[in-house]
Amino acid sequence: MRLLGRFGWTGYVAMAASIEKSVLHVPSLEELCEVLQDGLKRNFAEVQVSVVDCPDLTQEPFIFAAAGLCGNPRVADVGGVSHLLPLPQTDKIYNLNTIAKEVELPGAFVLGAGAASFKAVGVNAELMPNVFTRGNGKPEVVEVRSCRRTGESNFVSCMRETLAKRFGDKPVAMGGTFLIQKGKAKIHVMPDFSPCPLNSDEELNNWLKFFDMGAPLICQSVFVSHDLGFDLRVEHTHCFSHHGEGGHYHYDTTPDTVEYLGYFLPADYLYRIDRPKKT
Ligand code: ZN
Repeated sequence: MRLLGRFGWTGYVAMAASIEKSVLHVPSLEELCEVLQDGLKRNFAEVQVSVVDCPDLTQEPFIFAAAGLCGNPRVADVGGVSHLLPLPQTDKIYNLNTIAKEVELPGAFVLGAGAASFKAVGVNAELMPNVFTRGNGKPEVVEVRSCRRTGESNFVSCMRETLAKRFGDKPVAMGGTFLIQKGKAKIHVMPDFSPCPLNSDEELNNWLKFFDMGAPLICQSVFVSHDLGFDLRVEHTHCFSHHGEGGHYHYDTTPDTVEYLGYFLPADYLYRIDRPKKT
């Protein structure tokens, strides 16, 4: 799971999980605007990136638990797909309150993409965590508008690749939320745990259920310019909607009509918690 927010998450497992921490490079919001404007222009027909006051994210369509992406943004990458495959390690249950303490932000607002606790919901499921325990002001954020995709990269990959190109080996991570306002997207949903081991990408893709889901979709996203040697999932996005659709975002399937509107902040620190021993 990755969380970003006034951000934190925490994992709790029976034994203390390993915690690795890295300082991130934090460009100014103005510099990020310039960089993302330039990178997205190569992939979308219309792009407008600017610094804005964060919109009130407690309002429709976001209905988040916190009003903004404020204060101490941090990225936590907790566990990993290797705890799911080839067979699920069902003892890997993480408590977000503990994760918040582990990223040194008790009371954090947690936003991102993960897997639900089968002990809580009865089956394996996609998770869009939206958990908040303490309020704060509403600072500025980077607003990103991109319409009509002209390149091959999805919205998130395009931004991540742009950061990697511009900042080289200085790691930059961003997180926040975006809307797919028009168009459709390819989304996967995990079915219940696979009874047989999933040992290849092909077996994994046959197990996952893929759907074409329609706008408006509210996405929670985190991306890191490159792996820091922590076996990171360098980008991860889940979405939900008010029409009953949601899951893991791959890319839009309607490049000619797609419209994205996002709000993001760069994170100060990245924590890798309970990195799987074997991948
Ligand atoms: Zn996912």
